Amino acid sequence: MNIHEYQAKALLEKFGVPVPKGAPAKTPDEFITALAQLPDGPTMVKSQIHAGGRGKGTFTNGYKGGVKFCKTKADAREVAGKMLGETLVTVQTGPAGRKVQTIYFTAASDIKKEYYLAILLDRAASRPVIVASTEGGVEIEQVAHATPEKIHKVVVDPAYGLADFQVRDLVAALGFAGAEAKNAAKLIRALYAMYWDTDAAMVEINPLITTPTGEVLALDAKVSFDDNALFRHPDLVALRDLNEEDPKEVEASKHALSYIALDGNIACLVNGAGLAMSTMDIIKHFGGNPANFLDVGGGASKDQVIAAFKIILGDPNVKGIFVNIFGGIMDCNVIASGIVEAVKEVGLKLPLVVRLEGNNVAAGKSTLGGSGLTIVSGDTMADAAQKIVHLVA
Ligand code: ADP
Ligand code: MG
Repeated sequence: MNIHEYQAKALLEKFGVPVPKGAPAKTPDEFITALAQLPDGPTMVKSQIHAGGRGKGTFTNGYKGGVKFCKTKADAREVAGKMLGETLVTVQTGPAGRKVQTIYFTAASDIKKEYYLAILLDRAASRPVIVASTEGGVEIEQVAHATPEKIHKVVVDPAYGLADFQVRDLVAALGFAGAEAKNAAKLIRALYAMYWDTDAAMVEINPLITTPTGEVLALDAKVSFDDNALFRHPDLVALRDLNEEDPKEVEASKHALSYIALDGNIACLVNGAGLAMSTMDIIKHFGGNPANFLDVGGGASKDQVIAAFKIILGDPNVKGIFVNIFGGIMDCNVIASGIVEAVKEVGLKLPLVVRLEGNNVAAGKSTLGGSGLTIVSGDTMADAAQKIVHLVA
């Protein structure tokens, strides 16, 4: 689960990570009350979307920059009016962009130097890793590619926690000394505490900055949490912004279905993540394009199958459906009855190819065959994939 920068900044503050003073606003009226909380003078206006690269982004109406420096609060109010409700396209949003529904105003800081600091899970090491660089404010992937020696990593032993020598190593690698070193060390410890205590998947500060007076501040924050740990954090769940999520994915999560929208035209309904992946592969192999990843799980009910069909059909790009079920725990006949009921309920007009195999497959096939519906049966995965690709072509 991702959160907005303004929410992340509030969390950072709670854990003792210094951030510039800021306030969010969702309407032009709120601009006034938000700005009233900030000191007079230079102010940043920041579009809140769940994607980075906002500074260099462009709105679909041609307005340039989703993060803007303004000399006065009056200017900031005007600029915010140009961003709110508009669609911002950045390198991370894809061409469709994202609608800006919240503006975050922050005091503009005097930047001496920009750095990069992130904490995430290193899957290979099965441990948290702290990634830091003196090259901040730019895309870290580019730094990693062009000058990998400028990326410093510290892997933390989760049982022991972040050790003092590791903090000192990071501070030294970033070239901090004096007051900056002291402040940076404090910030790194606070950031690690936040990462750990919130069960974060990632906290990324880009840029982390120093000011001419020796302060070290987080100017940007991208934070995401491990979905599997959210049950421990009702306060964090409350930060979820459904506006930022695909409504079909939100609906799927209500029915305990794993659904991810893709941009092809063949919808897939599959049980098991591995089978779902190979189904997408085989569609591609025969020249088609999957419209989604949809895993109904090992023990799907009829209701879940019906919900899955409705979600699939909510995507206007879908031109055909491929159901690929391996009955292990799953009884093929349960799926077959679910399919028949779903097809009748939604009045399906699109081609439907079903491949069933495994537990109680004969009963499943006779349920489909006896339904009187136009359902194309596939004998093998390859056969079924070729049939659906042909039918949507
Ligand atoms: P994004 O990464 O989405 O482009 P950032 O929050 O990193 O958004 O903002 C882009 C750039 O704007 C930053 O790299 C920084 O140079 C500048 N910036 C952001 N916030 C502030 C601030 N409070 N004071 C001064 N400059 C800022
Ligand atoms: Mg940034």
